[in-house]
Amino acid sequence: MKKYLLPAVLLAIFEIVAVFLWLTKDNMFYLINFSYIGISIALGICLYIRKYKYARRVTQLLVGSYMLVYLGLICSENMQIEGFWYYLFTGVFEAATIHYAVAKIFGPLFFGRGWCGYACWTAMILDFFPYKQSGQPRKKLGWIRYITFSASLIFVAALFLAHVGNMERIMFWSFIIGNLLYYVTGITLAFYFKDNRAFCKYVCPVTVFLKPMSYFSMLRIKCDKDKCVSCGRCRQVCPMNVDMTDNSRKRANGTECILCLECVKSCPKKAL
Ligand code: SF4
Ligand code: SF4
Ligand code: SF4
Repeated sequence: MKKYLLPAVLLAIFEIVAVFLWLTKDNMFYLINFSYIGISIALGICLYIRKYKYARRVTQLLVGSYMLVYLGLICSENMQIEGFWYYLFTGVFEAATIHYAVAKIFGPLFFGRGWCGYACWTAMILDFFPYKQSGQPRKKLGWIRYITFSASLIFVAALFLAHVGNMERIMFWSFIIGNLLYYVTGITLAFYFKDNRAFCKYVCPVTVFLKPMSYFSMLRIKCDKDKCVSCGRCRQVCPMNVDMTDNSRKRANGTECILCLECVKSCPKKAL
């Protein structure tokens, strides 16, 4: 049973958040929402422990489709970065602000970029494409993320400064259009660079939060140097060009790790 400790601990953390928000916000939604996400994550890890090949994808599809279809389309919650700015400017600690605080700003201090590996609805689609391993060196295009980040901030700030009415409706449509743009750009880049995660590496504005916070992540891939035979297999399968054989926090592309565990699965010496 010891091997199921990690999913049990993660489920417990999500339940604590669920109950805390349910009681403080007096809203049953938070109990159901965070319980569902915690169960989906724990289920994926249990499947991984049982060596099911698509364990991560199960969690990613369960959480990603729930957030996109139920929260985004049915409940009209803009969980994109524009939604975060919108709720932040209105001073409301709900929906996108809670989501960002838990998954993308403070959560990464504990679980790194687990969001990107197990929950993001953009990557949920991108990961269907054939280029699962990067296969080529990283391009120097990371600066694009600062443009998309600034654009999202300027867009919402301009709406507030212009005192535009019916903001909820605009946020709903910006969620639809924003997601379509993400998918079109992400799929185009995946095929152009032959790299499913090219959008994550160069364009996604959320990485402006994710990267610095995940630098300090408690949960990270480490290499047992006594076991490693430097075969390089782990670096070949990594979708994010991380040098996981270097244990320092400054390792190459260290803040890109999405905890997909492909390197761990591929290591013949169980050194990771
Ligand atoms: S980098 Fe952005 S698009 Fe990629 S998985 Fe993370 S949040 Fe999603
Ligand atoms: S796959 Fe394992 S043994 Fe090979 S380089 Fe990576 S950590 Fe070392
Ligand atoms: S293959 Fe390993 S180092 Fe690369 S993203 Fe996945 S877990 Fe992180």
